[in-house]
Amino acid sequence: MSQTTVAADPSICSPLPVLGRDVTVPLVTGGDVTYAALDYAASAPALQRVWDDVAAYAPYYGSVHRGAGYLSQLSTDLFENARRTVADFLGCRADDQVVFTRSTTDSLNLLARVIPADCRVFVFETEHHASLLPWQDSRVTYLDAPRTPQQAVRTLERALADRDPYGPALVCVTGASNVTGELWPVRELAAAAHAHGARIVLDAAQLAPHHPVDIADLDVDWVAFSGHKLYAPFGAGVLAGRADWLRAAEPYLAGGGASRRVTRRTDGGVDVEWHESAARHEAGSPNVIGAYAIASACKALTEAGWTDLVARERRLVERVRAGLAGVPQVKVLSLFGDDAPRVGVISFVVEGWNSSHFAAALSAEYGIGVRDGLFCAHPLVRTLLGTDPQTQGECGAPEAAPGEKSLNAIRVSFGAGT
Ligand code: PLP
Repeated sequence: MSQTTVAADPSICSPLPVLGRDVTVPLVTGGDVTYAALDYAASAPALQRVWDDVAAYAPYYGSVHRGAGYLSQLSTDLFENARRTVADFLGCRADDQVVFTRSTTDSLNLLARVIPADCRVFVFETEHHASLLPWQDSRVTYLDAPRTPQQAVRTLERALADRDPYGPALVCVTGASNVTGELWPVRELAAAAHAHGARIVLDAAQLAPHHPVDIADLDVDWVAFSGHKLYAPFGAGVLAGRADWLRAAEPYLAGGGASRRVTRRTDGGVDVEWHESAARHEAGSPNVIGAYAIASACKALTEAGWTDLVARERRLVERVRAGLAGVPQVKVLSLFGDDAPRVGVISFVVEGWNSSHFAAALSAEYGIGVRDGLFCAHPLVRTLLGTDPQTQGECGAPEAAPGEKSLNAIRVSFGAGT
């Protein structure tokens, strides 16, 4: 690959500084270069503001909901304020709950545990594995990959209408694909779900870092996202939405914090009265710094202004796509077509190149960090590559022989802070 220099464009420079911007990495060709993190879809760098907020609070943190001491009281306030900040960020309805989890994966597994026993689940095969797999024990229907947003809505409507018995149902759908970056018709899918007596959970892991997500406006029942993709550190996530199924179910984890009262029975066992609030599903000492960091990121994004962030990212997407379009060997992967609106997540293959080698060369020769593989969405990537759906595949799968179809792809992703 030959080295080219791209002139900086002030109109797409981030208004939100992130950590790691000045990190230099060694190149195999000699010398150092400033690292270009283009793997936001996996984990975005934390905003400097988030890091500063966490550092300012770190010396004072204490146990949440458990202590009379000043630091414990302070931590409890910060934790509960973080919950309110996230509720505001997501436009939650008055009776929605915000549960702090470990991640989107954790949030969706929690939901899978609280749905009624006779609930049918409907999920497109194109989902990230976090949305695809938690339901295996329930009665799940996998829907074929749609080729347009309208087809997605029609497919869902048909499946919901035909369900037998016509009982409780849950739809799980992504807001923005972690492979193509394409936006899914969430509002329309929510309307279809509700028209057919079903509920819907939005996997906003890739949407929330790039777009405002308003739970009431989209009229979805739950939203799940991860802090580490929303410019906060690892270890905390959110499940927000309707309280009824959350309250009715056994706690996700049993333990202190989830229980209001535990009494010894005369027969030797124990009776437990569980909390009805979000604490019901947050047993154990909560990740107060993780929750605080998420709240700080929510505030930073809101203050930066979504209109500007979205417009800026659109310019970045156009610029990257225009650059890729200029390379005839590059094929950008898309389910809904070139004109589909998308966030800053773009996957492609390069004819004649092994995707893993290509990604390794971007790192070694240019200091650009991207992802290669099947992106934890194996069925979707195989559909997009046109490879055998039965192919063994892992993230970082071996590449096809020359002249054969690529077995994996390269993904660049960016966002606020790029
Ligand atoms: N959903 C989507 C669309 C994702 O892209 C990811 C992660 O890449 C997840 C869910 C899972 O997120 P986490 O690994 O933070 O649980």
